[in-house]
Amino acid sequence: MAKYIGPVCKLCRREGEKLFLKGERCFTPKCAFERRSFAPGQHGKSGGKSRGGMGRESDYGRQLRAKQRARRVYGVLERQFRRYYETASGQRGLTGLILLQILESRIDNVVYRLGFATSRAQARLLVTHGHFTVNGRRTDIPSMILGSGDMVQVREGSRQAPYFKELGSLAETRSFPAWLNRDLRNLVGTVQRLPERAEIDGSLNEQLIVEYYSR
Ligand code: SF4
Repeated sequence: MAKYIGPVCKLCRREGEKLFLKGERCFTPKCAFERRSFAPGQHGKSGGKSRGGMGRESDYGRQLRAKQRARRVYGVLERQFRRYYETASGQRGLTGLILLQILESRIDNVVYRLGFATSRAQARLLVTHGHFTVNGRRTDIPSMILGSGDMVQVREGSRQAPYFKELGSLAETRSFPAWLNRDLRNLVGTVQRLPERAEIDGSLNEQLIVEYYSR
């Protein structure tokens, strides 16, 4: 199971904005972007074409950035991301929206959206360590795609772990989207339906991503 293992704060600096990949740290002065909001590397401070520097960014540059940004937000590597695009483009409907719905339906994202983790990276780790069941069956695959009616629950054997003992009261302060349902007493969440576009990060530009792959 491949995943990006480099420094994640560099990804925010590369995109020129906060992507909130590190949970609570992102909201503190320790956030690397707050301290160094220029791109990483030797030429970071001087800015470049892709960072709003002197040159005008090309269409390709904008498409590439939109694709990279979405990939980084969801923590998906290129090959898998392209596979999602191919699945989306083979389905009826708006390819860009279907792509985003696939990304939102990953179990790691659902665990994050339910407020069971402070970042997708943490959610991914919790899933990988086998702390969740889907419809009663243990899983450790963070890329698992969930559908309407699927139920994600903290595994019985994990509930006594300090993190999960506290989770009910911690998650209470975190909101969750209307396409999911949550029962904190039993640490369970249910997918009600696919998210609508308005319920997905508005800063993602799926149109540019589709253009990138349709070149
Ligand atoms: Fe990005 Fe969070 Fe790191 Fe700040 S702390 S640079 S928002 S991942």
